Amino acid sequence: MSTPTIPVTKTSHSSLPNFNMDEIAFGKNFTDHMLIADYEDGEWKNVAIQPFSPISLDPSCAVLHYGQTIFEGIKAFKNDKGEVVIFRPDQNLIRFNVSADRMQMPAVPEWLFMEGMKQLINLDKDWIPTKPDSSLYIRPFMIATDPFLGVRPSMRYHFMIILGPSGPYFSAPMKILIEQKYTRATPGGVGFAKNGGNYAASLHPVELAKKKGFDQVLWTDAIEHKYVEEVGVMNVMFVIDGKVITPSLERGTVLKGVTRDSAIILLREMGYEVEERNLSVDEIVAAHKKGVFQEIFGVGTAAVVSMIKQLANGDYIMDFDPENMPIAKALKQELHEIRMGRKADKHGWMVKI
Ligand SMILES: *Cc1c(COP(=O)(O)O)cnc(C)c1O
Repeated sequence: MSTPTIPVTKTSHSSLPNFNMDEIAFGKNFTDHMLIADYEDGEWKNVAIQPFSPISLDPSCAVLHYGQTIFEGIKAFKNDKGEVVIFRPDQNLIRFNVSADRMQMPAVPEWLFMEGMKQLINLDKDWIPTKPDSSLYIRPFMIATDPFLGVRPSMRYHFMIILGPSGPYFSAPMKILIEQKYTRATPGGVGFAKNGGNYAASLHPVELAKKKGFDQVLWTDAIEHKYVEEVGVMNVMFVIDGKVITPSLERGTVLKGVTRDSAIILLREMGYEVEERNLSVDEIVAAHKKGVFQEIFGVGTAAVVSMIKQLANGDYIMDFDPENMPIAKALKQELHEIRMGRKADKHGWMVKI
């Protein structure tokens, strides 16, 4: 199918001149335009790029009551040559449609997701920060818009893309509590989908951990709270006795992160052994007691690689020196250099606009 042209309505008053590129708060500022499309009568229509603005929804619409909503998070960069490049958006499209399928929502066609994203970014490219470690955060999402209170899949949806400049994301090394009561995801559940409800359900346990002085929780399996899964809204990686270990995706309770996938590929190329498997809290504690638990870090689009300086299993506290995590550091550097175009993009990850 040939790509339909997407009509563009440009804003008459850009907010870029009033925007301070030196003080960017993540998720609070958005560019001048957005993409919106409607799903109706079994097809996507009314695709348009228009000035960023509130949208109106019927108070009875499905997303507001039953949470039929999914999203993605992607980053675009200005590389060293001044080119605008997006990091592996094809993987986000695949995952978006996996999430859509699980939430009984319609698939978004490639042209709408990719061409829509590229044209929107091209229009708002002056919003891409150029300072080191800055990026343009891309947020595609879909919501159910049927004005109907019955519990059934909506027949109407909006697909939208909004963009926001994102500053150098400094994440201070985190203190993490191993969660032993609450659950993020269950086998057969929706943990592998990037759907809104997962995040709402995680807020309470994380607040409880914060009251105890932690920054985030390390989620464990729903049945025994024995095997580790993810840290907050990031995938998690451990270095034990020189080997990198990350929880496997098998049970559908770990979200398939694009950063996780990229990290596994790069770490193997850098010569590290990487295992995707079940990792129990007991094994972690035993490794710590033996002195072979070397590194622990989170991986995800927002912060890329986040160091962890403390992990608590009840009263048993494991401390780490974030300055002494050579594998985490090397991974962060490698990803950065590929994104900036300083290293060859062997895998074709960077999509130029
Ligand atoms: C988005 C997300 C991740 C990270 O995925 P990336 O594609 O690397 O950004 C990990 N876990 C959860 C729960 C997420 O929502």
